[in-house]
Amino acid sequence: MKVTIFGAAGVVTGSCHRVEAAGRQLLLDCGLFQGGKFEEARNLEPFDFDADSIDAVILSHAHIDHCGRLPVLVQRGYRGPIYTHSATAQLLPIMLEDAASLAAMDAERRNRYKKDGHSNHKPLYTREDVGNVIRQLQSVEYAVDTELFPGLVLSLHDAGHILGSASVRLCAQENGQSKTLVFSGDLGPKGTPILKDADPFHEADLVLMETTYGGRLHRDRLATIQEIGEILHSAWKDGGNILIPAFAVGRSQELLYQFAQHFDDWGLSRWRIFLDSPMASKVVGVYGNNEQLFDNEARQVFNHRPHPFHLPNMSFTSDVEDSKAINSHKGGSIIIAGSGMCNGGRIRHHLRHNLGNPRNHVLFVGYQSVGTLGRLLVDGVKDVKLFGDEIRVKAQLHTIGGLSAHTDQNGLLTWYGAFKDRPRVALVHGEDDARKAFAAALKDRFDVEARIPNYAESLAV
Ligand SMILES: [Zn+2]
Ligand SMILES: [Zn+2]
Repeated sequence: MKVTIFGAAGVVTGSCHRVEAAGRQLLLDCGLFQGGKFEEARNLEPFDFDADSIDAVILSHAHIDHCGRLPVLVQRGYRGPIYTHSATAQLLPIMLEDAASLAAMDAERRNRYKKDGHSNHKPLYTREDVGNVIRQLQSVEYAVDTELFPGLVLSLHDAGHILGSASVRLCAQENGQSKTLVFSGDLGPKGTPILKDADPFHEADLVLMETTYGGRLHRDRLATIQEIGEILHSAWKDGGNILIPAFAVGRSQELLYQFAQHFDDWGLSRWRIFLDSPMASKVVGVYGNNEQLFDNEARQVFNHRPHPFHLPNMSFTSDVEDSKAINSHKGGSIIIAGSGMCNGGRIRHHLRHNLGNPRNHVLFVGYQSVGTLGRLLVDGVKDVKLFGDEIRVKAQLHTIGGLSAHTDQNGLLTWYGAFKDRPRVALVHGEDDARKAFAAALKDRFDVEARIPNYAESLAV
């Protein structure tokens, strides 16, 4: 068995790894590169392999940096199965149709401005390509062995990151030998809201693992919850609005869940709460249909608190006019909107209306990738340009570290530590500082030399 890294090498987007095993070629994930023009231009480039040479795709979860290039793969000739957890299969149409409409808008914009002298830009993919992806999905449940091909067995295991997220185990029989590859996917922190914790593994010949926060420790969850409560109270005193850029999948639902859990102590009944994201609203529906995947604490909250997905003072805004109307309120609104890194979506309109006023607050609750507006704001940029307006950043910005959907260095060490015999490990899905820091931590704790593969580098399993 051999793995070649075709994405998420030194970055956290574009997850894509080719596995050659038992005479077959598989892909683990096929994600979009995101964050800045340079990264995004890579999505249009040819794959480093023939799309029709792939025998099966395995998708770890529905985040766009893991699934967002599947329609391109299909457009370029891939006709085989795409194995994924059943909840991911339910989320995927929502995610990819949104990506297709963003791609259409992007192409239209470029054709309109003709800055580069061309007026025939085609979208990266269309809804038709998305429909083909959906038809090729094969749903799998957690911890069930599926024989993909003779001598090649797949199982998915809860990664505790978003609904349906999975770590992937592939076992291959080759030349009378058995080899096992474990791919972490994206790993959620212990005690992540709503979901169960990530399943540990005990055996592998090679572990391919994410390192988004390989160099950092999150703040204690309780301290984080307290901090959010304090920000909500002080924002109420300021009389401003609170903007929360959030991913449509995972973070938005967790926020609503935490709002339900702390409805009284955070004084939430006096606010207007808007989930200003049609996509996040649809995802709420998918979460609601998969309660069997929730942990025990979530069952308690769902039974004994205001229902997280039907808070009494919450509005789901679907059309654009309703979204714009939110800005007629000059204070007292909590607005959750995408995109999570502010590089697109309705949050940009809200930022335009709110960033210039020191009474308003912006809560960053997720990872902000290099090159995005969110990262610039977190890094303290003084002025931003939004829809042609130059805006001086005066709103109060808060980075809430402890709510990440990714586990931190300690969590990653614990997850790796569950393997007996210290298998070989290669680090992906992290910026290089994070990968190096985590490699040093692995060396320190387990005396293991981790590999830090470059793009297109191959590793034997
Ligand atoms: Zn993810
Ligand atoms: Zn990811």
